[in-house]
Amino acid sequence: MIQEQMPKYYIETWGCQMNEEDSEKLAGMLKNIGYTDTLNREEASIIIFNTCCVRENAELKVFGNLGTLRKLKEKNPDLVIAVCGCMMQQKGMAEDIVRRFPYVDIVFGTHNAYKFPEYLNRVKQENVVVKEIMDKETEIIEGMPIERKSDAKAYVTIMYGCNNFCTYCVVPYVRGRERSRKPEDIENEIIELVNEGYKEITLLGQNVNSYGKGLDPEITFADLLKRIDKIPGLERLRFMTSHPKDLSEDVIKAIKEGTKICEQIHLPVQSGSSRILKIMNRKYTREDYLNLIRKIKKEIPDVAISTDIIVGFPGETEEDFEETLSLVKEVEFDSAYTFIYSRRKYTPADKMEDQIDDSVKHERFNRLIEVINEASAKKNKEYEGKVVEVLVEGESKNDSTRLMGRTRTGKLVNFAGDKESIGSLVNVKITKAQSFSLNGEEIK
Ligand code: SAH
Ligand code: SF4
Repeated sequence: MIQEQMPKYYIETWGCQMNEEDSEKLAGMLKNIGYTDTLNREEASIIIFNTCCVRENAELKVFGNLGTLRKLKEKNPDLVIAVCGCMMQQKGMAEDIVRRFPYVDIVFGTHNAYKFPEYLNRVKQENVVVKEIMDKETEIIEGMPIERKSDAKAYVTIMYGCNNFCTYCVVPYVRGRERSRKPEDIENEIIELVNEGYKEITLLGQNVNSYGKGLDPEITFADLLKRIDKIPGLERLRFMTSHPKDLSEDVIKAIKEGTKICEQIHLPVQSGSSRILKIMNRKYTREDYLNLIRKIKKEIPDVAISTDIIVGFPGETEEDFEETLSLVKEVEFDSAYTFIYSRRKYTPADKMEDQIDDSVKHERFNRLIEVINEASAKKNKEYEGKVVEVLVEGESKNDSTRLMGRTRTGKLVNFAGDKESIGSLVNVKITKAQSFSLNGEEIK
């Protein structure tokens, strides 16, 4: 069938890279049964919303977007609308969606996405609404088809779920307990990707450092990194997220000694105050974190470190917040994702009494951003005049005559270069550092 005539799907994804990967699997299943993708909701015969519930904002966006689908469904009653992902795993949410948006056809959760083709079939054959949420995590399903978004880099999930129960976070409730994939399944997937031409792999997990627990034989994350580092043809290996309490010396050593493992670590600190860290149940102190950073910087001198920070956690005083500011100044993160604390039902922090006023949260958030941007700009400046290796991902977002890609340390580079190098590694001389990216030109 020519592409124009094939039925089309549209997938909107909110949230983290894990959700992105889940969406790629849904796309893979749809491709397998004859669908092709579209970026235009109007011409889709299936619309899927893959949702996130880590913060309230993400949920509000889903509700808003679902509201706008009513008109599309009226115009095209055959349109199939599906909603899935983390938000659906929350108690009562699936029922709520079906009630508030009766034109939604399929609702499923994070543990049963592999059954999507079956649900689709039922909707088409029996014209029913299918709602199925599984509370318990299932066995890991291997070998699912997957339709990846990029041709140069791919995400590979190595473990699912989380056992940490940070007191602000819903992830353990909606993604279930930690389960690791077998190393040979991960290796085989990466070998296949490399054979298809992928150059860069990012290993995904909520806490990759506890990879391998419960497998027989047990294997550590450092061991897995070393095994993958040996795969011929692979150029770059990244991973996220690392929990500071679990990042071992062996992993630092693996990064230092590996040839493909990139000099980049995402190490969410969440707060610079030991008192708040304790209430967050993070299981490390400010000093532990700073010591770890010192060790990493000593062993891997050109490393880029990024982080996640929450402001306005219940009970956070001005002094606690200033400790966060001073930690940020001391570490000089290359980049940081900053979040305003968002109350999440069923989490312990939601029940804490000393919730912080919105105005205080916003004021702290703005102060934090300023300090973070200063550090990022300073870090970027260090690249001026240097020649760096860039994996070329495509044309620049705002200027199609230029190319964009990333350094080993994860910095975004826009540069003048040859379009033929898209998908390969080139050397780029950095001419100017911006606050959030670098400018340069390709060196032959
Ligand atoms: N597993 C990863 C992060 C998962 S969620 C880790 O432990 O680092 C991504 C980020 O969202 C978290 O690092 C945290 O900074 C933020 N986050 C999670 N729950 C939040 C909440 N209730 N309010 C605001 N930010 C939150
Ligand atoms: Fe959430 Fe903490 Fe698990 Fe990360 S480690 S997913 S923040 S509970």
